[in-house]
Amino acid sequence: MYDVIIIGAGPGGMTAALYASRADLNVLVIERGAPGGQLMNTADVENYPGFSTITGPDLAMKMYENSSNFGATHTYGNVTKVENTGLVKKVYCDDEVYEGKTVIIASGSDHRKIGVPGEEEYAGRGVSYCAVCDGAFFRDRHLYVIGGGDSAVEEGLYLTQFASKVTIVHRRDELRAQKIIQDRAFKNEKIDFMWHTVPVEFKGDDKKITSIDFKNVLTDEITSAEAEGVFVYIGLDPLSEPFKELGITNAEGWIETNEHMETAVPGIYAIGDVRDTVLRQIATAVGDGSIAGQEVYKYLTNLED
Ligand code: NAP
Repeated sequence: MYDVIIIGAGPGGMTAALYASRADLNVLVIERGAPGGQLMNTADVENYPGFSTITGPDLAMKMYENSSNFGATHTYGNVTKVENTGLVKKVYCDDEVYEGKTVIIASGSDHRKIGVPGEEEYAGRGVSYCAVCDGAFFRDRHLYVIGGGDSAVEEGLYLTQFASKVTIVHRRDELRAQKIIQDRAFKNEKIDFMWHTVPVEFKGDDKKITSIDFKNVLTDEITSAEAEGVFVYIGLDPLSEPFKELGITNAEGWIETNEHMETAVPGIYAIGDVRDTVLRQIATAVGDGSIAGQEVYKYLTNLED
């Protein structure tokens, strides 16, 4: 029986593991891939205090080492369900069932799919959601990036080191990204923009994508452009399916908590990107994780009393 089972080893989960294990709790962290979460898909981080610039994977490795220093156990697995049986929480993970007195959900979010024909068919064959993973495959190509937020513009900038040109395709004529990132993109000679435009179909042959059909949302005019690579960055969806039966998610699937990171189920907490929150950053996930790590300690101490 663990004192706390943490589901997800992104910045939030790893911080919760650090705080809880440093408070001498018996901690299990379950992660379905390499520790780091979205950090593993992030090229450069320059808004996490203490590092003027650090790559996402480097920061992930530092957080992982730090989270293990006080004895937290890390394991791999895919959590499919959490059951609340009063004081014991059961976490179903592949063929195992782990039992914990508390659970911290730090499962994060996934890149939203745009849902146009050809997207699924050409995923991994020209359609990508990860510039860090796939950018180098597109040397000297003209690439398209869909979206106007921080991810689209930042990753578009990252892609300019490989691509001959990067076209950012946005459905409005104003970017949502932070101004400092926008300014860099506007100054970058390799970047241009298609405003008021969305993709309506990714087309290709039996091997890879060869063109994209775009629609101008003001005029409904459809145009086609040759394309060998497109990166979709149109926002995030919560990874909360395994927790739906607990009744702690809102209509969009984000998990609702109070400022103590408590969900509606006593002993179950949620932190980081999967939480219904106003800002999704490494720093906010880390803040959530520290609160939850401390709160489980208080909850368990109260139970003992
Ligand atoms: P986001 O901020 O939600 O932006 C999504 C973008 O995609 C918006 O520009 C949106 O257009 C567009 N979009 C949404 N649905 C679309 C559709 N169906 N078709 C076409 N375009 C669509 O998502 P994100 O950029 O992935 O960022 C997610 C979170 O991570 C944000 O909180 C962001 O601040 C944070 N983040 C921070 C950093 C950083 O601090 N350096 C880096 C990356 C991400 P509209 O603008 O018209 O809504």
